[in-house]
Amino acid sequence: MTMKKQDPIALIKPKKLDNLRMYELAKDHLSEKMQELYKECGTFNLYISTLDKEKKKMVGGNHCKNRFCPICAWRKARKDAMALSVVMEAMHEEHDVKYLFLTLTTPNVKANEVKSEIESMNKAFHKLFMRRKLKKVIQGYARKLEMTYDGNPLITTPLFEKKQAYYERLGLKVGDENPTYDTYNPHFHVVLAVKKTYFNDSRNYIKRDEWLEMWREVTSDYTITQVHIERIKEKQTGNAVAEIAKYSAKSNDMGVSPEVFETFYNSLKGKQVIAYSGLFKEYMLKYKSNELEQYMEKDKNEYFYKIIANWHAEQSDFILEYIELTKEELKKYNGNTIDELDI
Ligand SMILES: [Zn+2]
Repeated sequence: MTMKKQDPIALIKPKKLDNLRMYELAKDHLSEKMQELYKECGTFNLYISTLDKEKKKMVGGNHCKNRFCPICAWRKARKDAMALSVVMEAMHEEHDVKYLFLTLTTPNVKANEVKSEIESMNKAFHKLFMRRKLKKVIQGYARKLEMTYDGNPLITTPLFEKKQAYYERLGLKVGDENPTYDTYNPHFHVVLAVKKTYFNDSRNYIKRDEWLEMWREVTSDYTITQVHIERIKEKQTGNAVAEIAKYSAKSNDMGVSPEVFETFYNSLKGKQVIAYSGLFKEYMLKYKSNELEQYMEKDKNEYFYKIIANWHAEQSDFILEYIELTKEELKKYNGNTIDELDI
């Protein structure tokens, strides 16, 4: 039998190894207390599983909640994805909105320019959404700040195919994006809620070229040649959710070197990574106060065991212990809604 792809215990081991690797880069930036929490993050995890041990989910553990911890960034992304998909479903049901996916980017910058670049992009973004034309049609947005690092000539990276697809999505062509390497690309991924009439009323509809023109105007950067805008079809909602909710900096990029880590750390630390406005903001509050439960999927699994997964450093692996749930725990863990989404 092949290992189930979604087995959460199989997923956590590479994250723990990543956490230990990243710790070496992160430690000098952390307080003594956070160093301890970060290093120890995920050495203890509590799962529950069905009687046949096929279905499992995490219900607790010692997690450091640091944004630059690979385990915690991953767990937060899964929770954010769940929240966003429920919110989008509820907004669609109750306000009949449709969704657009917008990517806004500016030319790559050097390490010492990243901080100010993010600040100007934030300003430009707010200017853009203050425009009357947008205010009229946009019912709200969910915006994610993401940053990538370009350290090597594209052609030699083993992830060439993946990068190519990524650049295509940003509207860039391989080869014309980054003449000098060792640069960073902060950018925004945005899900926009629009009224249903947006698509069939020419006074409201905004063409791609118009988006580009507006983005150039608010950034005052006329060298920008691309924006990416597309309608999110119902079936593709999951992709957009994943794009917004996934980590804002991948460990692959962030962990290249101490210098690169430092740039990521200094420019993303304390920054709001996901921002919500309008209907998104309103519905995210409803989600947090458990008012959207009717849109959440019930977890139909019948949990029977709890699993204690302890990290054994000398083996670089988790040792599992299965214990039957007590009567109280059976009640506590069964019949709940699903609150994490695979991304
Ligand atoms: Zn952590």
